Amino acid sequence: MNSPDLTVYGAHWCPDCRRSKRFLGEHQIPYAWVDIEQDPDAEQFVIEKNKGKRIIPTILFADGSVLVEPSNAELAAKLGLVTSAKRSFYPLIVIGGGPAGLTAALYAGREAIDTLVIERAAYGGQAAATEKLDNMPGFPDGVPGIEFANRLRAQAERFGVELLQAQDVVNVTSHGNYHVVHTASGDQYACCALLVASGSRYRRLGVTGEQDFIGAGVHFCATCDGPFYKGKHVAVVGGGNSEAEESLLLTKFADRVTVLVRGDAFKASPVIVENVLRDPKIDVRFHTEVIGFLGERGKLNRLHVRNNQTDMAEEMAMDGAFIFIGLDPNTAFLQDAGVRMNRWGFLVTGHDLVHDESQRPPGYADRQPMVMETSVPGIFAAGDVRSGSTKQVASAAGEGATAALLIREYLKQV
Ligand SMILES: Cc1cc2nc3c(=O)[nH]c(=O)nc-3n(C[C@H](O)[C@H](O)[C@H](O)COP(=O)(O)OP(=O)(O)OC[C@H]3O[C@@H](n4cnc5c(N)ncnc54)[C@H](O)[C@@H]3O)c2cc1C
Repeated sequence: MNSPDLTVYGAHWCPDCRRSKRFLGEHQIPYAWVDIEQDPDAEQFVIEKNKGKRIIPTILFADGSVLVEPSNAELAAKLGLVTSAKRSFYPLIVIGGGPAGLTAALYAGREAIDTLVIERAAYGGQAAATEKLDNMPGFPDGVPGIEFANRLRAQAERFGVELLQAQDVVNVTSHGNYHVVHTASGDQYACCALLVASGSRYRRLGVTGEQDFIGAGVHFCATCDGPFYKGKHVAVVGGGNSEAEESLLLTKFADRVTVLVRGDAFKASPVIVENVLRDPKIDVRFHTEVIGFLGERGKLNRLHVRNNQTDMAEEMAMDGAFIFIGLDPNTAFLQDAGVRMNRWGFLVTGHDLVHDESQRPPGYADRQPMVMETSVPGIFAAGDVRSGSTKQVASAAGEGATAALLIREYLKQV
């Protein structure tokens, strides 16, 4: 898809503006943002386009056409995203188009297994949001995450895989040997084998104001939203590898990056920590917790922080905050699927299901589960969503390939 040039006219307090911006961000579609309350000409433009009314978001496309307060489905249609499948049944359906899902799909496609991949956001998953993958085998100089994602997608398409985008899977049910995938738009697709490769998502702090300012000062992806902070002061919350990497990336845009670490040290690789501590644009505050996000007119402008050694609280003026405190699995849509999860919601597979014979799932009375099969025969899991996975691109791709080959064997039996 060629992304059109878009301009989103809106205001920081407007929830539909945030929804549209989030949709564009998730699909990695570049756009310009104009706050009509800061720009009288833009406000006039919106009023003219809406016959005297001040309706936002008003979205202007490169061809001069305009969408006013569009739903996500209208935006997807306008952007030419493929949102419904050609058939209602596939031998294999893959949920999630990250490294695990796309690798599984291209393996299956190459084996002539008709495969449908359903993805709610941009193809490439978390890998696409990574500025540069330095540890992907076969790329000695590293590879930008988005380029890697585009290559994977192209390879899956070359093998005839059908790809849906902007479709959120909301439920999975099983009927005998069939599994049915339900999407938010009300479509249902059935399959014999289902691969869950839905990865994980950024964890939130759960403090006051966080939800209100998401997309209006609170962010989870520096690659997506860092460019909005040219010349500004931003905070980064967290002390792990992702946080340290993203702080370094943010220095390309922001003038100043303040890193807030709850403990007394980073939990990141020593090389990255050294780079962070050496960077003149970055200052680090240990023992510091964010207890609230504050702002005016729907835009973040301050952080409420607390030193957990002295218990002293203070407000810090801040243009934006990026939160990197870990990942949660994307498994909420499996509530009716009957698949076993560990206590954090990651999917349990293979031998881990039958360690304890008293816990053996009923579907495996007469055979062992395959390595990546879940507690429901025919539903497989690969990549970050799987309990015990190593949360890396190369390993997610490897798990995707393994799952596809196991699924090939499974499909011979059903
Ligand atoms: C900032 C950052 C930097 C990283 N850097 C590196 C690195 O340098 N090297 C490295 O090896 N790894 C890195 N990783 C980790 C790596 O990106 C992940 O381990 C990898 O992407 C996992 O792949 P996956 O396919 O399992 O899941 P994901 O990449 O999470 O993909 C899952 C996909 O499923 C989709 N999905 C989820 N739920 C649904 C649903 N209900 N309906 C439809 N679709 C759904 C999601 O939108 C997503 O596209 C990084 C991660 C982050 C966040």
